[in-house]
Amino acid sequence: MKHQARKRFGQHFLTDQSILSNLIGEMRPRPDDTLVEIGPGLGALTFWLLKAVNHLQVIEIDRDLAEKLRTGPWKDKLTVHEVDVLKFDFTQLEAPFRVVGNLPYNISSPILFTLLDFADKVIDQHFMLQKEVIDRMVAAPKTSDYGRLSVMLQAYYHMDHLFDVPPECFDPPPRVISAIVRMSPKPAQERAAIPHALFSKVVSTAFSQRRKMLRNTWNGVVPDHIAQEAGIALTARAEEISAAQFVDVAQRLSTYTAKA
Ligand code: SAM
Repeated sequence: MKHQARKRFGQHFLTDQSILSNLIGEMRPRPDDTLVEIGPGLGALTFWLLKAVNHLQVIEIDRDLAEKLRTGPWKDKLTVHEVDVLKFDFTQLEAPFRVVGNLPYNISSPILFTLLDFADKVIDQHFMLQKEVIDRMVAAPKTSDYGRLSVMLQAYYHMDHLFDVPPECFDPPPRVISAIVRMSPKPAQERAAIPHALFSKVVSTAFSQRRKMLRNTWNGVVPDHIAQEAGIALTARAEEISAAQFVDVAQRLSTYTAKA
């Protein structure tokens, strides 16, 4: 029986084989990779991945689709986790691992933030997302796409927008253009040096009102002298500050509060 795509799970199934082949070409999966696919759905990408790897972990929330995968022809090569990816404990996988998926677009940002907690264990992530979200992820300062998502992810990952995927490559077609991004965690030392909670606070307050000067948005969060020591003018706006500068402010703030 044909599976009826479920809107609440963001189900748009890839049908264009050349897109899948190009993605595999970019990823170059190897037989011994520990690889986890988020949202395998009907298995369009799963099929290609299984040609390359010995075993594949998949995370699928839809009970019917998970059951099909558990009992289907590839069952011996799959470990099926029937769970919400936002609640999945990635530490149960053998690290380091690779992550791939044509993500449900309605929860793509929460998925990206969830995975941030496991960056230590990740080799790389290849995701199909709304192109508009990838534009925001890789945006440079002083552009309209640049915001909290860009800064939070750019501090932790190198990211490449690989290629676009038009709506007609899916069934049913989404209303938006999609694209594929590669995310490779930055070196462990660089990531470990970021005081995450402070960094997150410094970035979200700065972008809480992106048109306002940092003097106002950082009031009570970042003392003026810390911004100045980091070479940031208090008249600047969040969208002018690079991810590296935000990290610098968070690090100075961390040292300052530890001393106080
Ligand atoms: N990989 C398939 C393909 O490319 O044809 C399906 C991609 S579809 C855009 C997204 C998939 O993620 C669906 O199979 C959906 O059921 C699953 N999904 C949606 N929300 C999820 C969640 N919270 N946790 C795990 N899987 C989820």
